[in-house]
Parts: sequence; structure tokens; C-alpha cells
Amino acid sequence: MKHFFDVVIIGAGPAGLCAGNILGNAGKKTLIIERDPFLGGQLLKQTHMFFGSRDQYAGTRGLDIAKIFQNELNSYPNVSVFTDTTATGYYPEEKILLAMKDEKELYEISFDQIIIATGASEKSLLFENNDLPGIFGAGAVQTLMNMYGVLPGTEIIMVGSGNIGLIVSYQLLQAGANVKCIIDAAPHIGGYFVHAAKIRRMGVPIYTQHTIHRAIGKTTLEAVELVKVDNSWKKISDSVFTESCDVLCLAVGLVPMSELLWQMGCDMNFVPELGGSVPARNQWMETSVRGVFVAGDVAGVEEASSAMLEGTIAAIGALKNLGSWNAAIEKKCVHSLEYLKEIRYGPVGEKIRSGLAKVEAR
Ligand SMILES: Cc1cc2nc3c(=O)[nH]c(=O)nc-3n(C[C@H](O)[C@H](O)[C@H](O)COP(=O)(O)OP(=O)(O)OC[C@H]3O[C@@H](n4cnc5c(N)ncnc54)[C@H](O)[C@@H]3O)c2cc1C
Repeated sequence: MKHFFDVVIIGAGPAGLCAGNILGNAGKKTLIIERDPFLGGQLLKQTHMFFGSRDQYAGTRGLDIAKIFQNELNSYPNVSVFTDTTATGYYPEEKILLAMKDEKELYEISFDQIIIATGASEKSLLFENNDLPGIFGAGAVQTLMNMYGVLPGTEIIMVGSGNIGLIVSYQLLQAGANVKCIIDAAPHIGGYFVHAAKIRRMGVPIYTQHTIHRAIGKTTLEAVELVKVDNSWKKISDSVFTESCDVLCLAVGLVPMSELLWQMGCDMNFVPELGGSVPARNQWMETSVRGVFVAGDVAGVEEASSAMLEGTIAAIGALKNLGSWNAAIEKKCVHSLEYLKEIRYGPVGEKIRSGLAKVEAR
């Protein structure tokens, strides 16, 4: 089946939904493609109240933020949404995007502008037996627990003390699991002090300078061997100890899902501060390929608040290319750009700022 749209958005997380609402409001014929059955991306797993700024829905649960965006989207008849549909490939010469619905129906989609908002995928770790059932990524644990009401196990060891590791540990404790410890190879806890303090008050020790040596189990996970690491992250061989557990949860970072951007011929750069390979872009989030925009974690792993603002800016950039520019849109754009700068200000935003300096200048 063939379709044409002014703008196509791939991914319905906070970045894609904010972009969709701007374009819907501007009356553009827009399509949002989402591989999951629901809209919201990672927001749907987030039962905790958001931190950050009030303007970006701090104090509201992630899943309720997704509902707010979806309700607005439903009011725009010019926005179509294909769920259960994966954007699988792009043919630059014909400028055709292929998308597969339910692994059965193939759509050929052409467009004037496109916004890639595919988010990020979870990293894993290399250790013996890392494929035993019972070893999960933190996102998978959140999906099971918060979307489907399934507790993945009862005795948990969490790897990673960043905000994701801390928040998912807290949610596991709330769901009745025993989080035995959180380990991190780094010498310091990576997440916010407020989250770490909450976990410690609930009796969970956080061991920094520790990593996984190997997993043990015949058919499923039964225990793990943990080991101390030195200042160069090398294992200290006589420090191995065993902890029994039925779940090992890995919260060790995310990688931008940039496959479509590679296919589209965008100028890509490996930027560790942003999580992996990300495209060069201008202030409108337009990549080196005219008409191809990027927003959210695929542009650099950050937070929902920045994803929302980048989605807004990318949609405004697409409107600019389509010749739709007015004072109200300009005002919204200036506000979003200033706000984005503000949330990346100070020591917390230092890593992101240094990563962006490598891709924004072109
Ligand atoms: C445990 C946890 C807690 C967090 N807490 C906070 C918080 O309190 N505050 C905050 O600001 N941020 C928080 N974040 C971060 C925030 O959730 C992410 O930064 C944000 O969701 C990124 O938005 P996004 O739209 O870029 O991507 P996502 O939310 O990941 O959405 C991307 C969407 O694209 C879809 N997709 C991918 N590829 C394709 C394809 N080929 N075809 C079709 N669809 C596709 C995916 O299915 C997904 O729905 C948290 C993250 C986690 C994991």
C-alpha cells in the first residue's frame, strides 16, 4: 500500500509525540509510525513521578504524561498513527520508506520531511553465562513489572547505580522483591543522591568498584559471582564472592538506535558522551541530509524533558522547510531552544554539552 505525508515521524516516545502535536496543530498531513501497540515509548513504563522541571511535567507520572500527549494528538484529524508498525528500511533514490505492520502488511511511504525519534536500546555486559534465563535489562524488568504486572523474580541483584538502576530497584522493592544489593564498577554512585538515599534507607547496600565475574545456574540463574575492581577497572582476583539470586538486572546504559539514520546517509559521529553513534545536526535538529530530522535519545541519550523539547524543535524545523512559519511558531521555537539550554546548564549537563559540541558544529 502506498501513502504520502508532509511529515513522517518514526517513534512515538516523548520526542515523537511532541513533534506530532506541533505538526498536528499546524495542520500538516502527518504520520506517526510506532512498532509497539501503544504510544508513549519509555514513558509507559515509568510509574514514578518525574523529576526535573515543572514545565516538563515534573511531579507527574511518566505514563500519565503519555496520556496527556495522546489526548492532544487525538484532537488532530490530520495526524495518522500506525501502531504495531516498524519502519524497516529506507531507499534514498526513490525517497521511499518501508514499514511493516504486524509482520504481515508492507507499506510504502513517501514524505516531504521525516523526523527520526526511535529512542535507544539497552546495553549488555560480557561475562560467563550472560545468556541464562533470569538475566534482564532494566527496561525489560520495567516492562514486565509496570506494564504487564509480572514480577520477574524475588531475589534481585542490580548492576548499575545510575538513575535507571536506582529507580528500577526502588520499583522492585515496592513490588515486593528483595533487592539484595546494587553494584557499580565506578568509584561513585552515578544517579541522583535523593534516589540513592531512598534505596539505602530501605536497607539495600550499594557496592561501588564491583562488577560481575560470572553467572551460575543449570537452566536458569541461581547465583552470581561478584568481584571488586581497582581504580583501572581491573578485577581483583582474590576478591570474588558469591550471592544467590534469581534475577540479575543490568542497568548499564543505553545506545541510540540510529540504524535508519545510517541508511539515510546522514553524517554520523561516535560520541561516547551521547551514548554512541549520533548524527551531526543544526539547531533545528536537521541532520546533514536536508529534510531528515532527529529528536530524543536517538540524537544522544539524555532525558524525557530534553526529548520533548527536541521533538518540538525538530517539528518546527520541518515546518520551516515546508514554508509554514509564523510569529507564534517562532515564539515557541525561541522558548524551546532557551529552555533546552537551561536544562543542560551546570555540572549535571556538562557531559551532554561536551558531546553536543562535537556534533552541533557543522
Ligand atoms: C527507568 C527510567 C526512568 C526514567 N526517568 C526519567 C525521568 O524521571 N525524567 C526524565 O526526563 N527522563 C527519564 N527517563 C528517560 C526517558 O524515559 C527517555 O530519555 C525518553 O523516553 C526518550 O524519549 P524518546 O522519545 O527519544 O525515546 P523512547 O521513549 O525510547 O521512544 C522511542 C519509540 O520509538 C519506537 N521505535 C523504535 N524504533 C522504531 C522503528 N524502527 N519503527 C517504529 N517505531 C520504532 C519505540 O518502540 C519507542 O516507542 C527515564 C528512563 C528510564 C529507563
